[in-house]
Amino acid sequence: MTTTKKPADKKPAAAKAAPKKTAAAKPAAAKAPVKKAAAKKPAGPIQVDAIEAHPEFDLFTYCELSGETRIEHDLLEELEPRFDGWAEKFLRAYKIIDPAAPKGGGHLLIWLEEPVEDEIEGIWQDSPSAGMAFHNLAIHMVMTTAQSVVPELADKGCAPLPKPTAGILKAFEQLGLVWNKEGTVNRQFAVFTRMPYSEGCAICMLRPKCPNANDD
Ligand code: SF4
Repeated sequence: MTTTKKPADKKPAAAKAAPKKTAAAKPAAAKAPVKKAAAKKPAGPIQVDAIEAHPEFDLFTYCELSGETRIEHDLLEELEPRFDGWAEKFLRAYKIIDPAAPKGGGHLLIWLEEPVEDEIEGIWQDSPSAGMAFHNLAIHMVMTTAQSVVPELADKGCAPLPKPTAGILKAFEQLGLVWNKEGTVNRQFAVFTRMPYSEGCAICMLRPKCPNANDD
């Protein structure tokens, strides 16, 4: 008889013990976030790396950008060699990573050096229509280069312009560029965007005045 009573006595004791253990575990779990907040790692250094860029002239894309359906043969014969010459001498492309920036901190910076601007200005003086054709050629070059590195830009037709961090502004200075708070650098033909592509119009400084902005 005594053996049948003993198990019955033990069960209530075990049932009481369980809640105590659970209650004791809760404060320990609540301490975990405090430890995480104290373990912040400092952001690493800015990385600036040149990118080998070899853009190719694309007649279809150029016509689309220029709003033209056909190009005079004489002009076409000038466009391609000029494109190749600029790409070889004056095109600059860099990957800049600021670990303190969002989404891994990667950015793409592309520009054409000042002699291209001077050349186009000179052509413009002689012929505004030819000047416009070469102006569009320069835009085609920086955009084609950007699209070759960040393919999503080809679908969009533009490049979301993020606000640079303090670290990236220092990188601009090292590269000889001056950032203007309106969202431009001191080069007429330039692209600055996130790399890899992320967030689209949502992070673009041009969004308040852009007629093509959307919520992609
Ligand atoms: S706001 Fe305009 S310029 Fe900026 S990414 Fe969107 S469509 Fe392009």
